[in-house]
Amino acid sequence: MLNNFTIARLPRIEFGQGVFSRTAGICKQYGRTVLLVTGARSFKKTVYFKQLIDDLSTQDMAWHHCVIEGEPSPQVVDDVVLEYADKAIDLVLAVGGGSALDAGKAIAGLLRVQRTVMDYLEGVGPELAYQGPALPFIAVPTTAGTGSEATKNAVLSVQGANGFKKSFRDDRLVAEYAIVDPNLLISCPPDVIAANGMDALTQLIESYVSTGANAITDALALSGLRAVRDGLLPMYQHNDNAEARANMAYASLLSGICLAQTGLGSVHGLAAPLGAFYPIPHGVVCGTLVAEASALNIRAMNKREPGNPSLDKYARIAETLCRKRFKKASQAHEALLALLQEWTEQLRLPRLEQLGLSDDGIDHVVAHSRGSSMKTNPIVLTDAEIRQLLLSRM
Ligand code: NAD
Repeated sequence: MLNNFTIARLPRIEFGQGVFSRTAGICKQYGRTVLLVTGARSFKKTVYFKQLIDDLSTQDMAWHHCVIEGEPSPQVVDDVVLEYADKAIDLVLAVGGGSALDAGKAIAGLLRVQRTVMDYLEGVGPELAYQGPALPFIAVPTTAGTGSEATKNAVLSVQGANGFKKSFRDDRLVAEYAIVDPNLLISCPPDVIAANGMDALTQLIESYVSTGANAITDALALSGLRAVRDGLLPMYQHNDNAEARANMAYASLLSGICLAQTGLGSVHGLAAPLGAFYPIPHGVVCGTLVAEASALNIRAMNKREPGNPSLDKYARIAETLCRKRFKKASQAHEALLALLQEWTEQLRLPRLEQLGLSDDGIDHVVAHSRGSSMKTNPIVLTDAEIRQLLLSRM
């Protein structure tokens, strides 16, 4: 019997090699003046930047360009909103990794509203209900990925011991279009491919076993996991492999679609404080934790909730990623954990100690790990278990 479910708003999706050339034409549907949001360097160096500017001119469109350095903060978003408030912007086009996409999404949400983003961030400030209106937003990812092109939240962070990493979230922030062209991934270096690929993998695993999962997200998550199986290591080893790039662009897109519907789990619960207190890229946090976090969930469920349906789901993930049937769930779980460990090593994901975490910092991280993602983990973990998870990756 199928359980009831809701699928919230999704962007229109253009996927495939070469679809980037449609970007200016799609922008034109939403007005004449576009605010282009990109990262600082990588996209500007590519042929695609010039192609976009030429295409916008051909469409007789005006454009402003703002640049986001690193993962965006609330201050950066507020500054851009202030700078462009009186420029009659019709739409926001973000081209870049999750950082540029999240910044663009938040800016599109605020340009007409003219309030600080701090008013809306979850878990900090007054948490006002967002009423819009948001400007049309078009998202073009250049990493694979965060899936931000398909989600309704923008992650913003303040770095430091008292920092935070929180979301501005609303259905009205979902992109009008996600334009996903695997060709844009060609310039990604191996460390970016590894971190982003593990982010997409983690998002697919966590949304598949999430307490918020449903029949549609399950089907999409398994399809995304097959694409990670076929794409991640081949893309890491040879980024001139077009099929691997397409698989990872697709996996990342599906991971975003799924997570926006289901919520995530303990890895993302920990990624928020770890990414806020230490300058660790988001994908690296996910990649370093996903194997041990899966092991902990399976151990805790076997011990306290042996009837938890997510135990079967972890076995299904094993069958999908290992391309193999197992007689017993326990064999499947073992094979899955071994595979995740192997990928963590092959992709050279550093340990937390190498990333700046010391034993003294662990309790502070545990104390801030109970944000929205932890709430949909398939089993409630104790503080001692979360502490042990961090220790196992020191
Ligand atoms: P990023 O956007 O910070 O980019 C990482 C690095 O890769 C940067 O140096 C960037 O310049 C470079 N880069 C990007 N595209 C490139 C390309 N094609 N070629 C060469 N270099 C390229 O990293 P990210 O992992 O894509 O995004 C991380 C951010 O996304 C974090 O803030 C994270 O919290 C957020 N995130 C958001 C969601 C969401 O649903 N909104 C989901 C997951 C993560």
